[in-house]
Amino acid sequence: MLDKPLAPATRIVRRGASPAASEHEAEICVLGAGISGVSAAVEAARLGRKVLLVDGLPALGGQAVNSIIGTFCGLFSNGLEGYQLTHGLADDILRELGAEGALHYRRGHTTVVLYDEVAFGRFVERTVRAAGIAVLLGAVLRRVRLEDRRIGALELATRYGDVVVRATGFVDATGDAALAFAAGLDCREPAEGVVYGSQMMVLEHVDEAHYPTREAVSARLAEKAQSYGLVRHDGFAFAFPGRGTALVNMNHVETPLDPFAASATGFIGKEQADRSLDFLRREFPAAFGKARVRAYGLPGIRQTRWIVGRHQLTVDEVRQGTMFADAVARTAWPIEQHHNAEGYVWEPFAEDHLHYVPFASLTPAGLDNLVAAGRCIDADSAALSSVRVMGPCIAMGAAAAHALDLAGSDSVHQLDIGQLRRRLGANVDARP
Ligand SMILES: Cc1cc2nc3c(=O)[nH]c(=O)nc-3n(C[C@H](O)[C@H](O)[C@H](O)COP(=O)(O)OP(=O)(O)OC[C@H]3O[C@@H](n4cnc5c(N)ncnc54)[C@H](O)[C@@H]3O)c2cc1C
Repeated sequence: MLDKPLAPATRIVRRGASPAASEHEAEICVLGAGISGVSAAVEAARLGRKVLLVDGLPALGGQAVNSIIGTFCGLFSNGLEGYQLTHGLADDILRELGAEGALHYRRGHTTVVLYDEVAFGRFVERTVRAAGIAVLLGAVLRRVRLEDRRIGALELATRYGDVVVRATGFVDATGDAALAFAAGLDCREPAEGVVYGSQMMVLEHVDEAHYPTREAVSARLAEKAQSYGLVRHDGFAFAFPGRGTALVNMNHVETPLDPFAASATGFIGKEQADRSLDFLRREFPAAFGKARVRAYGLPGIRQTRWIVGRHQLTVDEVRQGTMFADAVARTAWPIEQHHNAEGYVWEPFAEDHLHYVPFASLTPAGLDNLVAAGRCIDADSAALSSVRVMGPCIAMGAAAAHALDLAGSDSVHQLDIGQLRRRLGANVDARP
């Protein structure tokens, strides 16, 4: 028997004419809790900084969790014996999810690591809490308060009221350069055409014993995608061994920045995803005849708007593997451009190839306490396509944290770059 009354007392409330925003202070505020922002926040907290991690979604993990990206790319050098290029948070992910049986390595010329997105979502939450990071979710950036060459505070809207966040340093890990843009800085967008996103989904009741090869799926898509009403004529469905599930990436959807058009992308994407399930069921009935959708991700957004940094990483620098004095991240991931509706450009590199991201591509010249990380750093469209995958995103997040830690209340443009490089040696210089 409960001893509480059946009708607990209520009270009348009314919102004031201009309710005060709640105020919060941190040393480092990270806007965007995708893989880059989580890496930045965890690294900064482990450096002893008071960190606030903010996201517009009601959950942590950005696209890596909520769009069910499903594989970590760009974490290893090329070749069957490829070695790990990025450490820090990546070590924790590989160790903890590996121990849970939530990873599957696909080794080939490039290495991709499939992950269970549910396990990864919980890993992110546990890790962020264990690091003592303050979290503000469901908070969308509304305005930036500038103080000369510094960001002084962010004004955020949440369903529970407005919040003002003051900090010494800020990380723009929004993917869309939302912070740099709101601060009035120049940003880049594709001048013509679009970079397509994709609607990811996970299928269950897949028969692994009859699973087709990737080549067989590709060949059938090239032949028949159009007859199933599929915009994209390539893609893949990766099986997660032992689970009867498959991760499907088989469509292209525009991901505009207009609020109403952006709201429609999920519906368009799911229609395309449903058509791919129809294709898989009919073309490969032994494997997919009984398959059904277990989960759709939120719309997967590749490249929308990004910062103008002190250096724009170019496709030539990527192809040549240019090493920079201020390099903070590296990867061997191919150029992977999704600017055609029907397919994508895939330009893999040699086994010994590595390319690098300079700190100058993370830093807009106009502000002293802002560092970008992840898919909104400065690069030309092709170069960006090869460094926006999760391996280098983790490294860029770590770099942003160390740079703001070193800068304190001074400028990130006047750092001792040698000191920053030494701190980030594991992600730039280390070899097995
Ligand atoms: C379909 C698809 C497939 C991909 N496949 C792979 C793959 O297999 N492997 C791989 O490694 N990479 C892959 N990528 C690339 C990779 O997933 C992304 O580039 C990477 O996850 C980007 O991480 P991020 O932290 O920079 O940004 P995001 O994950 O996009 O995180 C940005 C966060 O910022 C928040 N935010 C944005 N604006 C605001 C605002 N104004 N106020 C508050 N919060 C805001 C968002 O809610 C979001 O959570 C893929 C991408 C797509 C789209």
